[in-house]
Amino acid sequence: MPVGATEWHGDHLPYCTDTLTAAALAERFARELGTALVLPPLDYGVSSHLLAWPWTLSIRPATLTAIVEDVGESLLRHGVRRLLVVSAHDGNPGPIEAAARELHRKHGVAVAVFAGWQGLAKRLLAPEGRLIDEDHAGQSELSMVLHLRPDLARSDRAVDVPNQRMDHPVRVIGGFDAVVPHGHSGSATLATAEEGAAVVDAIAGHVGPFLRVLAANGWMGGAWMSGITLD
Ligand SMILES: [Zn+2]
Repeated sequence: MPVGATEWHGDHLPYCTDTLTAAALAERFARELGTALVLPPLDYGVSSHLLAWPWTLSIRPATLTAIVEDVGESLLRHGVRRLLVVSAHDGNPGPIEAAARELHRKHGVAVAVFAGWQGLAKRLLAPEGRLIDEDHAGQSELSMVLHLRPDLARSDRAVDVPNQRMDHPVRVIGGFDAVVPHGHSGSATLATAEEGAAVVDAIAGHVGPFLRVLAANGWMGGAWMSGITLD
């Protein structure tokens, strides 16, 4: 189940950037698994931190939790007891995890969650000399859309905005407008379609084998599985 967002991404990226990304990753993960079905993407996410910019459409955290729970319970009616939720937006993982916990508590089903594609891409590709910023509407997101839907990307409007990101365990949950005046940051002028393709390949290559191990073991245990080797 891909979960995206409809939110401001500057003049150079479409509102559906996160939905495109989540759907593309979900499709690749399904190919890696071989027997999975990809659900229609959810176009709305928790984007309250971006409501200062026009046409951002946000749903409440409790709404997202309810939607994922409802989809999961519908799937159960049809005999589907394994669900991977793929989020490409930073406001979504908390509410999705809440739904996953409820689905497990009520029905005993294991729900897997994938989130944080930018951080993973950076970890996988920085050793190859790639930048991979973790900004909103920066170089990595523009690279992704240049790869997936070049007709929706406007590199000619991209500008670089220094970020104020601090890698710290304390996070302030508030409006993005207080820290990023234009609603985006990063090095968007460095984006390329080739890099977007490399990101999708790297993430699929990293996540695919793990998903196959999860599938082979009934999706029990998640990342804490012991005694199982990845080869
Ligand atoms: Zn985005």
